[in-house]
Amino acid sequence: MTMIGVLALQGGFLAHRHILGALGVETREVRLPQHLEGLSGLIMPGGESTAMLKLMDAYSLFEPLAAFGQSGRPVLGTCAGAILMARRVAGLGQRSFGWIPVEIERNAYGSQRESFQVKVDCPAWGLESVPVLFIRAPRFTELGPETTVLSEWEGSVTGVIHRQFTAVAYHPELGEDTRFHAAWLARNFERQGAVACASC
Ligand code: GLN
Repeated sequence: MTMIGVLALQGGFLAHRHILGALGVETREVRLPQHLEGLSGLIMPGGESTAMLKLMDAYSLFEPLAAFGQSGRPVLGTCAGAILMARRVAGLGQRSFGWIPVEIERNAYGSQRESFQVKVDCPAWGLESVPVLFIRAPRFTELGPETTVLSEWEGSVTGVIHRQFTAVAYHPELGEDTRFHAAWLARNFERQGAVACASC
Protein backbone atom coordinates (compact mmCIF):
# COMPACT_ATOMS: atom_id res chain seq x y z
CA MET A 1 0.00 0.00 0.00
CA THR A 2 1.24 3.46 -0.87
CA MET A 3 1.32 5.79 2.12
CA ILE A 4 2.39 9.34 1.39
CA GLY A 5 3.60 11.52 4.24
CA VAL A 6 2.74 15.21 4.23
CA LEU A 7 4.99 17.41 6.34
CA ALA A 8 2.51 19.05 8.70
CA LEU A 9 4.56 21.41 10.84
CA GLN A 10 3.03 24.51 9.32
CA GLY A 11 1.54 25.75 6.06
CA GLY A 12 -0.68 24.19 3.43
CA PHE A 13 -0.52 20.50 4.26
CA LEU A 14 -4.29 19.89 4.39
CA ALA A 15 -4.83 20.84 0.75
CA HIS A 16 -2.29 18.21 -0.36
CA ARG A 17 -4.04 15.61 1.79
CA HIS A 18 -7.36 16.62 0.23
CA ILE A 19 -6.07 16.15 -3.32
CA LEU A 20 -4.41 12.82 -2.55
CA GLY A 21 -7.57 11.69 -0.76
CA ALA A 22 -9.58 12.52 -3.88
CA LEU A 23 -7.16 10.29 -5.78
CA GLY A 24 -7.72 7.47 -3.32
CA VAL A 25 -4.23 7.65 -1.83
CA GLU A 26 -3.60 7.32 1.89
CA THR A 27 -1.68 10.10 3.62
CA ARG A 28 -0.13 10.63 7.02
CA GLU A 29 0.75 13.94 8.68
CA VAL A 30 4.44 14.11 9.58
CA ARG A 31 5.39 16.09 12.70
CA LEU A 32 7.72 13.74 14.51
CA PRO A 33 10.57 11.47 13.34
CA GLN A 34 8.54 8.30 13.91
CA HIS A 35 5.85 9.53 11.48
CA LEU A 36 8.33 8.93 8.63
CA GLU A 37 8.42 5.19 9.24
CA GLY A 38 7.02 3.07 6.43
CA LEU A 39 6.22 5.97 4.10
CA SER A 40 6.49 5.47 0.34
CA GLY A 41 7.06 9.16 -0.35
CA LEU A 42 6.75 12.63 1.12
CA ILE A 43 5.23 16.00 0.25
CA MET A 44 6.70 19.18 1.72
CA PRO A 45 4.00 21.86 1.40
CA GLY A 46 4.06 25.60 1.03
CA GLY A 47 4.07 27.88 4.02
CA GLU A 48 7.02 29.68 5.53
CA SER A 49 10.34 27.92 5.13
CA THR A 50 11.96 29.76 8.06
CA ALA A 51 9.12 28.77 10.40
CA MET A 52 9.32 25.16 9.18
CA LEU A 53 13.06 25.07 9.88
CA LYS A 54 12.50 26.33 13.44
CA LEU A 55 9.81 23.71 14.03
CA MET A 56 12.03 20.97 12.55
CA ASP A 57 14.62 21.88 15.15
CA ALA A 58 12.03 21.93 17.93
CA TYR A 59 10.81 18.42 16.97
CA SER A 60 14.28 17.00 16.10
CA LEU A 61 13.03 16.41 12.58
CA PHE A 62 15.73 17.95 10.39
CA GLU A 63 18.13 14.99 10.43
CA PRO A 64 15.41 12.34 9.97
CA LEU A 65 14.03 14.30 7.01
CA ALA A 66 17.52 14.61 5.54
CA ALA A 67 17.91 10.84 5.86
CA PHE A 68 14.50 10.27 4.27
CA GLY A 69 15.61 12.23 1.21
CA GLN A 70 18.81 10.21 1.01
CA SER A 71 16.83 6.96 1.18
CA GLY A 72 15.78 7.21 -2.47
CA ARG A 73 12.08 7.67 -1.82
CA PRO A 74 10.26 10.33 -3.86
CA VAL A 75 9.74 13.80 -2.41
CA LEU A 76 7.56 16.60 -3.81
CA GLY A 77 8.10 20.14 -2.55
CA THR A 78 5.78 23.03 -3.32
CA CYS A 79 6.80 26.65 -2.76
CA ALA A 80 8.36 26.73 0.75
CA GLY A 81 8.87 22.98 0.34
CA ALA A 82 10.85 23.64 -2.84
CA ILE A 83 13.02 26.16 -0.96
CA LEU A 84 13.86 23.49 1.61
CA MET A 85 14.88 21.05 -1.16
CA ALA A 86 17.25 23.38 -3.03
CA ARG A 87 21.02 23.18 -2.76
CA ARG A 88 21.34 26.91 -2.13
CA VAL A 89 18.99 29.67 -1.02
CA ALA A 90 20.08 32.89 -2.72
CA GLY A 91 21.68 35.52 -0.57
CA LEU A 92 20.48 34.42 2.83
CA GLY A 93 22.56 31.41 3.71
CA GLN A 94 19.32 29.75 4.80
CA ARG A 95 19.62 26.06 5.64
CA SER A 96 18.19 23.53 3.22
CA PHE A 97 18.36 19.81 2.47
CA GLY A 98 20.24 20.40 -0.78
CA TRP A 99 18.62 17.53 -2.66
CA ILE A 100 18.20 19.43 -5.94
CA PRO A 101 21.22 21.19 -7.50
CA VAL A 102 19.54 24.55 -7.97
CA GLU A 103 19.76 27.97 -6.44
CA ILE A 104 16.43 29.39 -5.36
CA GLU A 105 15.44 32.96 -4.57
CA ARG A 106 12.71 33.43 -1.99
CA ASN A 107 9.76 35.80 -2.49
CA ALA A 108 10.86 36.46 -6.08
CA TYR A 109 7.38 37.39 -7.34
CA GLY A 110 6.48 39.93 -4.68
CA SER A 111 4.40 40.00 -1.53
CA GLN A 112 1.28 38.10 -0.44
CA ARG A 113 -0.92 40.81 -1.98
CA GLU A 114 0.77 40.22 -5.31
CA SER A 115 -0.28 36.56 -5.41
CA PHE A 116 -1.70 35.39 -8.71
CA GLN A 117 -3.17 32.37 -10.45
CA VAL A 118 -2.00 31.12 -13.83
CA LYS A 119 -2.20 27.97 -15.89
CA VAL A 120 1.07 26.13 -16.42
CA ASP A 121 2.07 23.32 -18.72
CA CYS A 122 4.26 20.47 -17.52
CA PRO A 123 5.37 18.98 -20.85
CA ALA A 124 7.65 16.43 -19.20
CA TRP A 125 4.53 14.96 -17.60
CA GLY A 126 2.19 15.56 -20.55
CA LEU A 127 0.10 18.10 -18.62
CA GLU A 128 -1.43 21.26 -20.06
CA SER A 129 -3.10 24.25 -18.43
CA VAL A 130 -2.88 23.18 -14.81
CA PRO A 131 -4.27 26.01 -12.63
CA VAL A 132 -1.70 26.99 -9.98
CA LEU A 133 -1.16 29.81 -7.51
CA PHE A 134 1.99 31.82 -6.92
CA ILE A 135 1.96 33.03 -3.30
CA ARG A 136 5.18 34.79 -2.27
CA ALA A 137 6.71 32.24 -4.59
CA PRO A 138 10.40 31.54 -5.09
CA ARG A 139 12.27 31.47 -8.40
CA PHE A 140 14.81 28.87 -9.51
CA THR A 141 17.81 30.96 -10.51
CA GLU A 142 20.51 28.43 -11.35
CA LEU A 143 20.02 24.87 -12.50
CA GLY A 144 22.72 22.28 -11.99
CA PRO A 145 23.40 19.12 -13.98
CA GLU A 146 20.89 16.27 -14.24
CA THR A 147 18.03 18.64 -13.52
CA THR A 148 14.97 18.46 -15.77
CA VAL A 149 12.74 21.47 -16.27
CA LEU A 150 9.17 20.50 -15.42
CA SER A 151 7.51 23.85 -16.06
CA GLU A 152 8.24 27.42 -17.05
CA TRP A 153 6.21 30.58 -16.82
CA GLU A 154 7.06 33.85 -18.54
CA GLY A 155 10.62 32.80 -19.21
CA SER A 156 11.51 31.57 -15.75
CA VAL A 157 11.79 28.01 -14.58
CA THR A 158 8.99 27.25 -12.13
CA GLY A 159 9.36 23.50 -11.67
CA VAL A 160 12.30 21.08 -11.64
CA ILE A 161 12.92 17.36 -11.33
CA HIS A 162 16.15 15.83 -10.11
CA ARG A 163 16.20 12.07 -9.63
CA GLN A 164 13.34 11.25 -7.21
CA PHE A 165 12.90 14.88 -6.21
CA THR A 166 10.30 17.22 -7.70
CA ALA A 167 10.06 20.89 -6.70
CA VAL A 168 7.70 23.58 -7.92
CA ALA A 169 7.59 27.27 -7.06
CA TYR A 170 3.80 27.35 -7.10
CA HIS A 171 0.81 25.70 -5.41
CA PRO A 172 -0.86 23.03 -7.57
CA GLU A 173 -2.96 21.79 -4.63
CA LEU A 174 -5.28 24.70 -3.88
CA GLY A 175 -8.08 23.92 -6.31
CA GLU A 176 -9.88 20.73 -7.27
CA ASP A 177 -7.64 19.83 -10.23
CA THR A 178 -5.96 16.56 -9.29
CA ARG A 179 -3.91 16.10 -12.48
CA PHE A 180 -0.61 17.41 -11.09
CA HIS A 181 -0.62 15.06 -8.10
CA ALA A 182 -1.87 12.18 -10.24
CA ALA A 183 1.06 12.68 -12.61
CA TRP A 184 3.54 12.89 -9.71
CA LEU A 185 2.17 9.64 -8.31
CA ALA A 186 2.18 7.93 -11.69
CA ARG A 187 5.78 8.98 -12.44
CA ASN A 188 7.13 8.03 -9.06
CA PHE A 189 5.11 5.11 -7.73
CA GLU A 190 3.46 3.34 -10.62
CA ARG A 191 6.36 0.97 -11.09
CA GLN A 192 5.73 -0.29 -7.58
CA GLY A 193 2.21 -1.13 -8.80
CA ALA A 194 0.77 0.91 -6.00
CA VAL A 195 -1.13 3.71 -7.65
CA ALA A 196 -3.39 3.70 -10.65
CA CYS A 197 -3.68 6.98 -12.49
CA ALA A 198 -6.78 7.46 -14.60
CA SER A 199 -5.69 10.62 -16.38
CA CYS A 200 -2.05 9.97 -17.29
N1 GLN B 1 7.80 32.94 0.89
C1 GLN B 1 7.75 31.68 1.55
C2 GLN B 1 9.14 31.26 2.02
O1 GLN B 1 10.06 31.92 1.75
C3 GLN B 1 7.15 30.63 0.65
C4 GLN B 1 5.71 30.97 0.31
C5 GLN B 1 4.83 29.80 0.06
O2 GLN B 1 5.16 28.66 0.39
N2 GLN B 1 3.68 30.07 -0.48
O3 GLN B 1 9.29 30.25 2.65
